[in-house]
Amino acid sequence: MSGGRAQAELAVAELRTTWGSEPDGVWTAPGRVNLIGEHVDYTGGRCLPMALTRVTAAAVRRRDDDRVRISSTDPDAAPFEGTLADLGPGQVSGWAAYAAGTLWSLQQAGVEVPGLDVAVSSDVPLGAGLSSSASLEAAVALSAAELAGRADDRELRHLLIQAAIRAENEVVGAGTGGMDQTVALLAEGGSALLIHTRDSRTEPVQLGLAEAGLELMVIDTRVSHTLADGQYAQRRADCEEAARQLGLEWLSDATPADVARLGDPRLQARTRHVVTENQRVDEVVELVRAGRVAEIGALLDGSHTSLRDDYEVSAVELDVVVVAARAAGALGARMVGGGFGGSAIALIRSTDAQAVGDAVTAACRDRGLTLPGILTVTSGPAARRLS
Ligand code: ADP
Ligand code: MG
Repeated sequence: MSGGRAQAELAVAELRTTWGSEPDGVWTAPGRVNLIGEHVDYTGGRCLPMALTRVTAAAVRRRDDDRVRISSTDPDAAPFEGTLADLGPGQVSGWAAYAAGTLWSLQQAGVEVPGLDVAVSSDVPLGAGLSSSASLEAAVALSAAELAGRADDRELRHLLIQAAIRAENEVVGAGTGGMDQTVALLAEGGSALLIHTRDSRTEPVQLGLAEAGLELMVIDTRVSHTLADGQYAQRRADCEEAARQLGLEWLSDATPADVARLGDPRLQARTRHVVTENQRVDEVVELVRAGRVAEIGALLDGSHTSLRDDYEVSAVELDVVVVAARAAGALGARMVGGGFGGSAIALIRSTDAQAVGDAVTAACRDRGLTLPGILTVTSGPAARRLS
């Protein structure tokens, strides 16, 4: 938990120097990594993310007026100043939209948000696919709700999830399914969170990675192929069309036989990914619950192949790091997140961390690719008040 404490101290220092305020409290919320269940959240499927010990901390002071001031220790993030009345769509842009937008959507949900001084600090790498955005939203949301006098219970957490999703979709203008916000607000330390995206039901799944001598490595390719921006919408459209042709409300209800019934090879491939990925989630959950987490590697590999060949959202950088990690001893590896760059994960024996990291870096260097960022991550708890 030291990461959380360190970020909390940095956020408090930021609050003092930028806004001259003493905090009423400090809240943290975690980043996340998705173990398996990729590109199925918008088809009513299942995913298995894990919250990290890496967090965004928010030091927050309640004000007596209607002003809202938000700053970040991130050097690229200019401080924001406004009032409670101008935090909504079209009124805030850039990084502050994640925080201000969350305050706006909380107001829309009936929370009487007071004027606030906010300072945030995060050790979730920004834009690396570990969901710094939802951790920022969740930390700000929980702080504002508690300072508005709301009791922190299950009902509130569900309200905060919806508010954070709404902020990111409507104020930031980024399409997000809701996995990130759900895990940031409902995860349990030491466990992954099985999310049934159709009805937002969640079940903790005890991981036992450390007990098995294993670690999860995140390999950030540090590339993002921006030409691919329209691809996410195209994949969603493919899934909607396939579901329509099959007469299904949710494409995740398709069967292997349904895949064969589709005439168009592209829709067949997209649907095959959705069907097999949901099966892989179920198999991973079964293995993990049976205490056999070391055996999930092949399913991670299968997910990567499916995302690369059937869903066509990988990138050369992702394929290179995944192959290099496996060759250096990883038990399994796959791309995570939207694709076309971003990060991959590898399941490794703790003793192999150095060797795998070195091999991945060497493979990128040999290919003339951008050198990746490499970190190992462990499971942490959901958003909470630290002090
Ligand atoms: P990810 O969520 O995978 O990190 P996103 O693109 O969804 O990537 O969100 C990253 C963006 O969130 C950053 O570019 C920045 O605008 C904002 N952000 C997240 N955390 C912070 C922070 N601590 N300070 C400033 N901005 C942040
Ligand atoms: Mg994000």
